Amino acid sequence: MRKHISPFLVMFVPFMAVMGAAQVSSPDDRYKADILVVVAHPDDDTVVSSYLARAIFEEHKRVAVLYCTRGDSGANSWGREHARALGLVREIEGRRAMSSLEITNVWFLNGRDTSSQNVLVSLAAWGSGGVLEDTIRIFRLTRPEVVFTWLPGSVAGENHGDHQAAGVIATQAFDMAGDPAVFAAQLAAPIRQFENALEGLSPWQAKELYYFSDAFDTGFFHGRGPEYWGREISPSRKASYLELAARAAAPYYTQSPDPQLNRQIESGGELGPVLAKLQQTGYFPDPVRLWLAKSLVRKPATADVFEGIGPVPVPFTPPRQSAFGAPKALEVSLAGPWGFYQDFWRAHELETLRVLRPEIAVRPDDTLTIPLLLRNNRAEPSRIAVSLSLPEGWKQGRQLSPFTVPGHGELTAAVPVIAPGAQSANFAEIRIAVTSGGTSLYQESLFVKISPYVAEQLRW
Ligand SMILES: [Zn+2]
Repeated sequence: MRKHISPFLVMFVPFMAVMGAAQVSSPDDRYKADILVVVAHPDDDTVVSSYLARAIFEEHKRVAVLYCTRGDSGANSWGREHARALGLVREIEGRRAMSSLEITNVWFLNGRDTSSQNVLVSLAAWGSGGVLEDTIRIFRLTRPEVVFTWLPGSVAGENHGDHQAAGVIATQAFDMAGDPAVFAAQLAAPIRQFENALEGLSPWQAKELYYFSDAFDTGFFHGRGPEYWGREISPSRKASYLELAARAAAPYYTQSPDPQLNRQIESGGELGPVLAKLQQTGYFPDPVRLWLAKSLVRKPATADVFEGIGPVPVPFTPPRQSAFGAPKALEVSLAGPWGFYQDFWRAHELETLRVLRPEIAVRPDDTLTIPLLLRNNRAEPSRIAVSLSLPEGWKQGRQLSPFTVPGHGELTAAVPVIAPGAQSANFAEIRIAVTSGGTSLYQESLFVKISPYVAEQLRW
C-alpha cells in the first residue's frame, strides 16, 4: 500500500529545515518596554495617562500595559452587556484607548473583576497564583526599565480591592521576575521545533517601581516621588497632556459618567468643557502623583522617572528580609487587609509604606467588620478582652464578651461597628484596646471616612 504523504507535511519540511538552521538567540525587541503599566481594569490607565502621553510623545518611551482583569463586573453606562460579555467590550475599549497613545503592546489576564474593598477577596477571586505567573511572563517578555502600578495599601478612597491586588501582583513580579528559580519553564530553552512548553525567556530585573493611587486625597504622596502636571502643553502635539489623556479615554463609554461626553471627544469638538466635567467625576487627576517604592539606581525620590535609568541591565536584586522579633506570650494585631499589608511590606522591603496608617472608607449606615488576630503562644488558654472607643454617631454592632484563645492557638475576632447615616468630611478615629487579666496587650486606631462613593465593605 502506498503511503499517503500529506500536502501539509510536504509544505512544512523545507520550512522546518530552514528554521532548524537559523537559531534565534535574542529576544524580540518589538516588545521591549521602558514602562510597563500593571493595572486591574480597562480605564485604570486614566489615572496616569497624562504622564504616559508626555513619556510617549515627548520622550519617545515605549509603554506596555497589562490589565489583570477585563473589568467584567463593572457597570455599563452605554449598553446592556454585563459580566463576561462586558469583559469583551471593555477589552476592546482598553485596546482603542491605548492605541490613541500609540500603545499596542496590551495584554489582558484572566482575573475576574471583583467588587470589594478587600484585596484578599480580589486575590482569591483572581486565582492570584496564575495571574502572578502570567505577570512574571510579561515582565520577562517586555523587560521593563520602570514599572507603574496601583498602591498596595488600604487608603480611604482607594475603593477597589482589585486595584490593590494589581499592586500586590506587580510588586511580587518586580521582586521575582529576575529570579531564575521562579517559574523556570518560562526560562528553559526550547528543545523541540514545535515547542509548546519551554518558553525561552530570560530572567529580568526592572530598575524602578512606582505606585499611584485614587485615594480621595493623594497629598500623602507629596515628596515620595515626582509629580507631573497635565495642563502643560505637549510641544509635539500642540495640546495639553490632559487633552491627550481625555482623547485616549474617549473609548471608555461603558465606564463613563456620561457617554455623550465621550462621543463629543470623539467628534473632535472643543475639549475644555468636556475635560472639566470628566475631571469633576475623578478622571485625570492633576498632577499625576507617583510614589517611588523601589529603585535600583541612586537618585532622589522626586527626580524624573527616567533620571539615572541607563541601557545596562541590573542584576537580580531580591528584597532584603528583615528578621522577625521573638514571639510574645500573647500577640494581637489587626488582621484582614491591614494585617496582610504589614507582612507584605516587610517581605518586599517597602519600608516607606509603613507611614500609611490603617484606614478605609465606608458607606453611610454600613457595617464595618474589624478583624483582630489573637494569638496565644502559651500552653494554657488565655482570656482576652476587646473594647472599642467610638466617635460620635458610631455604634457597636454587638457587645463583645471576652475571647478564650486555646493554648498554642489563635483566633480571629470579628468586631462589627456601624457607621452613622451622614457623609463626613473628616476621618473618624476608632480606638481599639485589648487586655488580658487587666494588662494592656494592644492599642490601635483605625481611621474611617464615610462616603457613598466606595465599594462594598468587608464582611464575612
Ligand atoms: Zn479600576
